[in-house]
Amino acid sequence: MRLLVVEDDKDLNRQIVTALENAGYAVDKAFDGEEGLYLGETEPYDAVILDLGLPKVDGVSVLQGWRRAGKLMPVLILTARDRWSDKVAGFDAGADDYVTKPFHVEELLARVRALLRRAAGHATSELVCGPVRLDTRASRVVVDGNPVKLTSHEYRLLAYLMHHQGRVVSRTELVEHLYDQDFDRDSNTIEVFVGRLRKKLGVEVIETVRGLGYIAAAPEKV
Ligand code: CA
Repeated sequence: MRLLVVEDDKDLNRQIVTALENAGYAVDKAFDGEEGLYLGETEPYDAVILDLGLPKVDGVSVLQGWRRAGKLMPVLILTARDRWSDKVAGFDAGADDYVTKPFHVEELLARVRALLRRAAGHATSELVCGPVRLDTRASRVVVDGNPVKLTSHEYRLLAYLMHHQGRVVSRTELVEHLYDQDFDRDSNTIEVFVGRLRKKLGVEVIETVRGLGYIAAAPEKV
């Protein structure tokens, strides 16, 4: 899952980005409304954290710009404590949720998880695909009840496929959603990661659809 954080307060931006990266997401960052608007229009994010008080272009205008451009990614806005009118303006502009400053980063993480799973049509924080269970809260994976140790890239790959279970996901889509902007992207590495992931899981839940990509699906019961 790839996220964008738009926040002009450098310390807060770094704090949010670090927490999200530690939770297993690929994260891009912007420090003003202009940069944020551009990134949100041009890059495919799974969710965005958007501060409303931004230099150059304010947060509400940024959000309106994205929605006008047909961008539907879930957006969580950051608002000041006593500005209820900001929340109203934010929701009217197309926000999906909000957090009031100052906030606990755990709350932000929980709200991001909720936005991501709702966008993918899941009701709980645990994703299940046959014998594989992925706990998006703890970033943990178990197969038949046994924990499997994955690298952060392998985890991201599995989490993305499981969020979109039953749908074919192309290599290009994977590259766009697993890596941040600064990463040296190469769709061939996806194949390598898929190979390693299959080996570690030891069960057939990731199928290759020739010429199209990959699909996560529960193995057929014998
Ligand atoms: Ca601000």
